[in-house]
Amino acid sequence: MRLKTPEDVMRFLCKEDPYGIILDACKDESIDWSDLQWVQQNCRPSASYPKSPMPCRHCGVTASTATTSYSNTNGNAGRPYFKCPTMGKFLVFADARGNDPTNPLCRCGVSSKRTMSGFYNARTPGKLFYVCRIGMCEFNKECRDARGGQVVVDPEIVDYLILLEII
Ligand SMILES: [Zn+2]
Ligand SMILES: [Zn+2]
Repeated sequence: MRLKTPEDVMRFLCKEDPYGIILDACKDESIDWSDLQWVQQNCRPSASYPKSPMPCRHCGVTASTATTSYSNTNGNAGRPYFKCPTMGKFLVFADARGNDPTNPLCRCGVSSKRTMSGFYNARTPGKLFYVCRIGMCEFNKECRDARGGQVVVDPEIVDYLILLEII
């Protein structure tokens, strides 16, 4: 499934949960970004994110904090994150983006974080996947739609999805 319009995104977000009812309610009208904003604010209060450095899952040393470059072209400009202090490996973004509480559980047993592969140098550009939200495990799972297909974002709507913290 390729997410290209607000309706696609609504369909994807509401596939297997009680808020599918929202889709029914919108059946007769076109869905726009403000509808999605409503869903995000009222039905998907975002799950928490790490506020202070965790022990690195690779070496056990307390993680160090960093921020992605503002010229990052993968939709990740200026994001705070934690990294391994000894190897510099990325651990987890320290923000609420993609922290949908209905995401699948990671190996830590908490809801995961939805994120997107970049549009440059990625095997499947704009592909959505889930990772550990608290930075403590190597969970990595592709987002699948109700029919089991890979979920890919159209470059034109990336900014909206980021603004709404869907990714
Ligand atoms: Zn480490
Ligand atoms: Zn985890």
